[in-house]
Amino acid sequence: MSGGGESRGATGSPGRPERGGGWGAMSGPPILEIDRVGKDFGALAALTDVTIGVASGEIFSVIGPNGAGKSTLFNVIAGLHVPTRGRVVFHGTDITGLAPERINRRGLAKTFQITNIFPEISVWENVAVAVQSRQPESGRLASLWRRSPVDAKVHDLLEPFGLLGRREELAENLSHGEQRYLEICLALATEPRLLMLDEPTAGMTPGETKEATTLIRQIVKARGLTLLLIEHDMSVVMGISDRVAVLHFGEKIAEGPPDVVRADPNVIEAYLGGAED
Ligand code: ADP
Ligand code: MG
Repeated sequence: MSGGGESRGATGSPGRPERGGGWGAMSGPPILEIDRVGKDFGALAALTDVTIGVASGEIFSVIGPNGAGKSTLFNVIAGLHVPTRGRVVFHGTDITGLAPERINRRGLAKTFQITNIFPEISVWENVAVAVQSRQPESGRLASLWRRSPVDAKVHDLLEPFGLLGRREELAENLSHGEQRYLEICLALATEPRLLMLDEPTAGMTPGETKEATTLIRQIVKARGLTLLLIEHDMSVVMGISDRVAVLHFGEKIAEGPPDVVRADPNVIEAYLGGAED
């Protein structure tokens, strides 16, 4: 029972277990609580009883072999799937089953494996459109006359990703890696408190992957954001994550600091047994 769903104020996390009661060792209050979430697709249990707490400001990775349920979990959190069981609490408010747009407005942004880049406008315009979509109505009108506030935001989003020099380029002409960065810029343009990235380094070379994960960590920490990262390649998350949870056949089989999780026999077994990578 969710107590009607809305609970305002810092103390209002309905049903939060006692300290040590299943959220793992967190350094601060949870910004996101995934509470006994299950998701069935017909006869397939894609997620079973998954409980995860993500602390404000941390980089939390969800890893697991292909088909483990990682993207399904992200889609449940972002409102693209309604869970069969359980609930999702963001900043003390039950967001289970809300529409994706409403969840985004509350400060949670997700990049999609299908890109939301407009290919035939420039890099700069892509980000400007995303920034403007977040201005209040009055701000949108004002920004027609006085573009500088939007421009400053677009500049600050592109700059750390090394995309300023590509600002006039059509988005479709960017390299694969640059397009992945642009997608993250578009998610950041909605000014989230929690950013969710689903395999952001997919298709990158090992060198690009290392550079990208370092950069993502820097940007997330500099902006004071919380990051929830999905990745199937365990080596990618080791350097970037504060904590890691492992999904296997829809169940959480381990959670903790990266080094501890990597050495867990159940995790080693999950990755060696039947995973294609
Ligand atoms: P991962 O992201 O860890 O690779 P997914 O969450 O994409 O795994 O998929 C978990 C399981 O759920 C897989 O068996 C997949 O085939 C299934 N699945 C995912 N989405 C759907 C869907 N919309 N309809 C039916 N089955 C799905
Ligand atoms: Mg996936």
